[in-house]
Amino acid sequence: MERQIKSVDVGWWIVSHEQKLWLPNGDLPHGTAARFALTGLAGAPVGEWQGETVWLIRKNCSENMGSVRQLIDHDAGLFQLAGRGVQLAEFIRSHRFCGYCGHEMHLSKTENACLCSHCRQRYYPQIAPCIIVAIRHGDKILLAQHARHRNSIYTVLAGFVEVGETLEQTVAREVMEESSITVKNVRYVTSQPWPFPHSLMMAFMADYDGGDLRIDNHELIDAAWFRYDALPLLPPPGTVARRLIEDTVALCRAEEE
Ligand SMILES: [Zn+2]
Repeated sequence: MERQIKSVDVGWWIVSHEQKLWLPNGDLPHGTAARFALTGLAGAPVGEWQGETVWLIRKNCSENMGSVRQLIDHDAGLFQLAGRGVQLAEFIRSHRFCGYCGHEMHLSKTENACLCSHCRQRYYPQIAPCIIVAIRHGDKILLAQHARHRNSIYTVLAGFVEVGETLEQTVAREVMEESSITVKNVRYVTSQPWPFPHSLMMAFMADYDGGDLRIDNHELIDAAWFRYDALPLLPPPGTVARRLIEDTVALCRAEEE
């Protein structure tokens, strides 16, 4: 848990405030605390990467504060830990006071939790589960341009799990809401923590079952079936969306041969 950082403490430094992190020279600081003038601040280890400690310091550096997105090209392990650090910092910042009784809270010494010593309530970081699903129809894949992204990238469908819903129900509901089709043969592929702001993407593949493609104009700008060898601009490597698309393309190609 948090302690005073010594000049010889070494590793990767996540210096985070308001969902941003310090990226001097556009990169995550790596080296001794002294080198980055972090000595004496309060910090805590949030994990280890390639045998070195990854530290979290909750502080605003004013300059060179950037987004975790800038680290998406890094090794997946370091990107994941940076996301973890930024989310923990944001969790602590948003839990200064108890939501039940309004008293000031303090950090647990044994786990990532905020404690209210007045009413004994205990708060843990929240994670918002999301589904993301690649839908295949023969040699084609359903890809959509999302209104909230405002770029020319086409990607798979995704949405938040609602209270009281199973993941299978979320897949069926999101696909129906956004595209008016039904899917079958839904199977789990992988997951990826997605710290924007605190999602956990749970990735599925599915097959087209029935219905005519009709998009939800609030969520999507466009959606279409693309043949696996004639795809539009895709999400970058490192994203779970890209992995799903590539897995679906591999399936299409295998069947074609
Ligand atoms: Zn309380």
